[in-house]
Amino acid sequence: MLSTIKKMIKGYEEFRKKYVHGENSAMQKLANDGQQAQIMVVACCDSRVDPALILQCDPGDLFVVRNVANIVPPFEKDSGYHGTSAALEFGVCFLKVKHIILLGHSHCGGINALLNPKNIKENDFISKWVSVIDADINEKLTADELAKKALNRSYENCLSFPWIQDRVSNKDLMIHRWFFDIEKGEISGYDKNKQIYSGLTKDSI
Ligand SMILES: [Zn+2]
Repeated sequence: MLSTIKKMIKGYEEFRKKYVHGENSAMQKLANDGQQAQIMVVACCDSRVDPALILQCDPGDLFVVRNVANIVPPFEKDSGYHGTSAALEFGVCFLKVKHIILLGHSHCGGINALLNPKNIKENDFISKWVSVIDADINEKLTADELAKKALNRSYENCLSFPWIQDRVSNKDLMIHRWFFDIEKGEISGYDKNKQIYSGLTKDSI
């Protein structure tokens, strides 16, 4: 643990050198101009799947919401506290992002909780949260196959938000399904026409 903390402090110093020092620093510019991220990412909380790190982005590049199993819940206007939906609203309606990337990944603990509920018997929130996926898990799916199915459900749920549906119809917004393989360190993107995941290229977005 101590070594991680030391690493963090060193990283923080490097961050300050790169982005903060000097009169026209990147952070000063971002503070003056405000954030203008064009890309929103819905990622998992998993410590191995940090979008900014995997995609080597800088501050201001990505508007990110992370939750267990990178789930987009359906549009529900009720008295609940909808954190992910609030982030989507901010990204889509106020920042006016052009892309939403749903970033699933292999070896997902949240997806495993959905697949093997007995392994995570006593919990206050996790089982209820991942049940949003509502997938047919009677089939013999692997966790990674279910993670990809979950991306489809999140994609459909995105379209249940009227302001997302409108922007997608007007071609002002694109929603992408990406899957990160932790072992290979590779992202594959879902090709709607071919209905398969294939290697990510510059044309994938
Ligand atoms: Zn995960």
